[in-house]
Amino acid sequence: MPGRVHVIDHPLVQHKLSLMRMKSTSTSAFRNLVAEVSLLLAYEVTRDMPTHPVPIDTPLARTSGPILDGKKIVLISIMRAGAGILDGMLRLLPSARVGHVGLYRDPKTLEAVEYYFKVPKVMADRDAIIVDPMMATGNSAVAAVDRIKDTRPRSIKFVCLLTCPEGLARFHGHHPDVPVYTAAVDERLDAHGYIVPGLGDAGDRLFGTK
Ligand code: URA
Repeated sequence: MPGRVHVIDHPLVQHKLSLMRMKSTSTSAFRNLVAEVSLLLAYEVTRDMPTHPVPIDTPLARTSGPILDGKKIVLISIMRAGAGILDGMLRLLPSARVGHVGLYRDPKTLEAVEYYFKVPKVMADRDAIIVDPMMATGNSAVAAVDRIKDTRPRSIKFVCLLTCPEGLARFHGHHPDVPVYTAAVDERLDAHGYIVPGLGDAGDRLFGTK
């Protein structure tokens, strides 16, 4: 069963993604763009989230209106580049809880190696949104979802800025039940595990480490 992939082709998202791809884009502009696109992706990924009605006194009358239970949402950031997405998403979902999964790519095998894991103690009734800018080989994404599934949240979604056919195939080979939200599916993966045409190393571009 192939998994669901939501490509967010809104013109604003695509415009900002093009700016992010440009190698001439500065670190501060790149960071802002990641936050802005992430906010727009948060809008899409929460589209089907449940709401419940609350009583409201407007200046004119008593009524009721739907609200999201923000505390039920837990954003799980794959370190370190996930932090850039977290920043934008928390602007829209300020009550969301946050978890971190520390994974690095072994440069030889490209396998994901875990070095940190911290999520809210009780995950049972929460909707987990796992974020990482680049789903390249899919190895980190698979490893993160493996770990989060163990905590038994109510639902899991995966959000990235960019992915590629190889990453999606690997991810949905392991987790066909987890939908992926992305701004684009690029052409391919290169021999070093980079997405082509892509935008380079998202962590380095976010934090100015190169
Ligand atoms: N991680 C990145 O930051 N960029 C890629 O292209 C692939 C993985």
